[in-house]
Amino acid sequence: MEKLQTPFYRIKEKDLAYDIGLLQSSLEKHWGKNYIMGYSVKTNSLPWLLNHLKEAGFYGEVVSDQEYLLCQRLGYAKQHMIYNGPIKDKAIFQQVLIDGAILNMDSNYELDWLEVFSKENPSKQFSVGLRVNCDIASLCPTEQLVEEEGGRFGYCYENGHLGAAIARIQALPNVTLAGFHLHSSTQSRTVTVYGALAQVACNLAKEYGLDLAYVDMGGGYFGGRADKPSYPDYFAEICKVLKTQFDPKKTTIIAEPGVSLISRATTFETSVIDTKEIRNHTFVVTDGSRVNLNPQVTRHVYPHHMEYSSDPAARKTLPSQWICGATCMEYDRLFEEINGPQLIPGDRVIYDTAGGYTICLTPLFIHYFPAVYIEKEDGSIFTAREPWTNEEYLAKNYW
Ligand SMILES: *Cc1c(COP(=O)(O)O)cnc(C)c1O
Repeated sequence: MEKLQTPFYRIKEKDLAYDIGLLQSSLEKHWGKNYIMGYSVKTNSLPWLLNHLKEAGFYGEVVSDQEYLLCQRLGYAKQHMIYNGPIKDKAIFQQVLIDGAILNMDSNYELDWLEVFSKENPSKQFSVGLRVNCDIASLCPTEQLVEEEGGRFGYCYENGHLGAAIARIQALPNVTLAGFHLHSSTQSRTVTVYGALAQVACNLAKEYGLDLAYVDMGGGYFGGRADKPSYPDYFAEICKVLKTQFDPKKTTIIAEPGVSLISRATTFETSVIDTKEIRNHTFVVTDGSRVNLNPQVTRHVYPHHMEYSSDPAARKTLPSQWICGATCMEYDRLFEEINGPQLIPGDRVIYDTAGGYTICLTPLFIHYFPAVYIEKEDGSIFTAREPWTNEEYLAKNYW
């Protein structure tokens, strides 16, 4: 295969197809045909990927006006949109209602908008969903939360704000409360927490006497990792619980995965440029950076493998080599290679599971955006994004 200039991201179509198939078969096995797969655009908004997932039948799950308009430009059907998040655009909010796409409300002003808009259009019928905020810490005491204080999205069940939102919607003659949105990120992403969230949907439907058109379980799943649960585990549990209250023929289940769908398929590939001894340390300079993998610089583990340019068995073993990135920041150190073959210029360090929250979060810091290549099922390479140059950087600048 041709040797591509590093650094770049590679997406393997075959691995992506595997995870798409796994999601689809898990939903179908446990819920039948009545499901919708959404893709979380914010996780990786690469145009090639958005188009590819659209072709595979995914809806666009968006949380900003730009994301909504991007999906529209890439040809997503107006009805195949899921509009989420706390910051909505009024014109798009109304458009989504008119189109009959999925709208999950999150903020207080949306209830005001809905009341005015439904009154202005009395002959039209609208349906909306509500994002539920419930106390996961008390439902699942062993779960590791993303934030200690708990989630900040949606309407709080415990203080009655969710109930008040339901009442306001039910008071509108031409609006139906169609569904609940249960996306809740946890650090530990266990199957148990999804079972508990499904139970919350059941309890709410019972408590408020609702026939829901859909239950949206959100994203946040693990995927592509042998040591963690995957779609078959999650949807077996979710569907088992949901079936105690909902009929799979009448209620649609929605999944909105992001990172779990694209992790296995995506690598970030870098080259060793130089190695140097500084007092008692060996530093290995590479042309990729921590900012290409974890721009927030919060991670300390970077799953990876090496491609040596010559037989590693013939090389010296070094007790410690620090693999460093291409920026001029001291913190741009990725991992310590302990008791490994001595690295030399031309070796490749390839980071695995690099698809989520990387390509779209990479900053324009010192270096511009790297290329993205698609490895097609037949092994050929398609350029999905050329590396950025000053052409792109200078666009719409004036001086
Ligand atoms: C971020 C997000 C997702 C996807 O989360 P992953 O952890 O990438 O699977 C899905 N739904 C909503 C509402 C989100 O905000």
